[in-house]
Amino acid sequence: MHMLINGKFIDKSERIDIKNPADNKIIDTVPYGNRKDAKTAISAAKRTSKIAKEIPSRLISEHLYDIYGELSKNSKIFEKLITHDCGKPLKDSKEEVIRSKQTILLSAEESKRIYGETIPMDACIGGEEVMGFTTKIPLGVVGAITPYNYPLNLVIHKVAPAIAAKNTVVVKPSTKAPLAALKFAEIASTYLENGFLNVVTGSGSEVGDEIVKSDFVDKISFTGSIETGISISKRAGMKKLTLELGGNDPLLVLEDADIEKAVDAAVKGSYLNAGQVCIGVKRIILHKKIADEFTQKFVKATGKLIVGDPMSIRTDVGPLIDENAAITIEKIVNQSIDEGAELLYGGKRRGSFYTPTVLDNVDSKMDIVQEETFGPVSPLIHVNDIDEAIKVANDTKYGLQAGVFTNNINLALKAAKQIEAGSVIINKQSTYRADNMPFGGCKMSGMGKEGIKYAIEEMTRTKLFIVNPI
Ligand code: NAP
Repeated sequence: MHMLINGKFIDKSERIDIKNPADNKIIDTVPYGNRKDAKTAISAAKRTSKIAKEIPSRLISEHLYDIYGELSKNSKIFEKLITHDCGKPLKDSKEEVIRSKQTILLSAEESKRIYGETIPMDACIGGEEVMGFTTKIPLGVVGAITPYNYPLNLVIHKVAPAIAAKNTVVVKPSTKAPLAALKFAEIASTYLENGFLNVVTGSGSEVGDEIVKSDFVDKISFTGSIETGISISKRAGMKKLTLELGGNDPLLVLEDADIEKAVDAAVKGSYLNAGQVCIGVKRIILHKKIADEFTQKFVKATGKLIVGDPMSIRTDVGPLIDENAAITIEKIVNQSIDEGAELLYGGKRRGSFYTPTVLDNVDSKMDIVQEETFGPVSPLIHVNDIDEAIKVANDTKYGLQAGVFTNNINLALKAAKQIEAGSVIINKQSTYRADNMPFGGCKMSGMGKEGIKYAIEEMTRTKLFIVNPI
């Protein structure tokens, strides 16, 4: 596949091998873009931003509807591409494509609803005859840097609202899974001015760094790890920043919870995409009264999951992104067992596959609880009451989402108020995300929000017009 720069598909002799995580075989190659390519893409985006801001929102909306139509026609291609590229089970890739289409559709709708407001200037002395109103204007060029785990929808969560707000975009997808972004560029470019959407493949330290530091980029929208997010914030200067970073989301199961539903939610939340989800359930906090019943049912349900070929529609858990990622999980699980955790299920690695794993007797100070474990591992922590559950939930540097199971409205509200997270979800696991909701964490999980309307807010600036009587 080729990069898209200024409306042209650019090839290079130096290429990056893209491997299928399931069998480590090369499935494709992409150009090894460098700083010069990033600069060319940024210059094109800057030039086009002057045209983009003048396009009527009616036409912008139509272009987004067209791209939605094109993505719908090509759904099957994208599903397979995602599975081959990042090892996601086919049924979850199908889900990602459905959500990606929805994200574009929401952007097509939202592009016609970017409002300013009138200001009551007469609230201040001397303003009696003055009229004031604001409009939202595009920032210019958005640099979008994305991770490997949702290689299509996370790209679209940046590109579609950026276009809806009449910004131009330079995307740098993850080198671990860049194919869906390149294919998307191919189908979307037909409907956009040259330079409106650019996709440059290459390393974060070269292409990513160029985008982050460039004086011609007005905003960085980044999704990825805390470490990269912090480093970007140090290099980005005065650019506007949205940072969607890691999570360590808890699932609290309180004493009056519906255990069957909580178990189902815990399985879905812990093992989706082999645990490589920012809002995956990474810690399960159990009230001591229901801990035994929950644990027994959860281990049984975990044992029923089908682990294997991600191209099979029956597969629940596929490989991790590569063997190194699986080795990292193996090490942290073994370290936890050495420190006293009890292995109730799983704990086996084969190449890039790691079996869904349940660990009991986990201490909340262990690394497996404190750090984000980006794999299919469920540490179980026992607590005496809701206050201790909330204390454990908050005992982390992360604050993305949280799930709470309870039938007691008072406990639900207490947990929702006191848990430090971007969203608290009652009676569902933290992986719940509707693409239009304000999404984004607090503490080290990031800053700013995505979710179309909220992303548009962060991709525009407010301009005030004041009219005085003559
Ligand atoms: P990552 O290692 O931080 O990489 C993310 C992107 O940043 C990649 O495209 C990477 O490029 C690029 N990058 C790396 N170094 C860079 C630099 N110095 N300057 C600019 N860009 C640079 O994250 P990942 O391993 O792909 O993704 C997993 C992480 O993402 C997890 O922590 C997960 O929780 C988080 N995540 C968060 C959300 C959310 O919405 N909050 C959603 C999904 C994932 P290359 O790797 O190609 O070099």
